[in-house]
Amino acid sequence: MRILIAEDDAIIADGLTRSLRQGGYAVDWAPNGVEADTALMTSAYDLLILDLGLPKLPGLEVLKRLRARGVQVPVLILTALDGTGDRVKGLDLGADDYMVKPFELAELEARVRALTRRSAGTAPTIQCGSLAYDQVGRVAYVDGVALDLSAREIGLLEVLLSRMGRLVSKDQLVDHLCGWGEEVSHNAIEVYVHRLRKKLESGGVKIATVRGLGYCLERPQGE
Ligand code: CA
Repeated sequence: MRILIAEDDAIIADGLTRSLRQGGYAVDWAPNGVEADTALMTSAYDLLILDLGLPKLPGLEVLKRLRARGVQVPVLILTALDGTGDRVKGLDLGADDYMVKPFELAELEARVRALTRRSAGTAPTIQCGSLAYDQVGRVAYVDGVALDLSAREIGLLEVLLSRMGRLVSKDQLVDHLCGWGEEVSHNAIEVYVHRLRKKLESGGVKIATVRGLGYCLERPQGE
């Protein structure tokens, strides 16, 4: 899951970035509207967190352009307390949710989970053989027992589950797992996959290596 934060307040952006990265999301930060607009044209995101009061290009304009291009990425608007009119305009322009500053990080994280889940268009729990993945709590279970997965492993599992039975290239994994300025090599991806594969083994869930191309989470027989 990759998230773009468009926010000119560096302290807010930094806090958000840290907490979302800890949650296993890849996070990019655009400090003004022009950079946000460019990022949205060049990268695919699973969520946009959009401050409306942005320099260079207002948040509402960023949103308008995004929807005019037909991009359906979920958008969570951040507004100041007195910005009721803008908030309504934002929702009219196709934002999915909004939060008023100052906000609680925990509440924002809950909304991020809800929005990214909704956009995945799937049930709260994804089943793959004896593996059950709770998308709300972001916990994986094998036969009802919770697996001890790192944030990276959770991120990796989410990408593989969303493309169950299909090939995912290492570049795609890097794209989904890393924000700008974060370096993750193909070797590191191999290590994460190796660890996750070991942890899923007990449940008979297989991550196949497609040599030279990438990985595939095998769809269980009969599903
Ligand atoms: Ca602002």
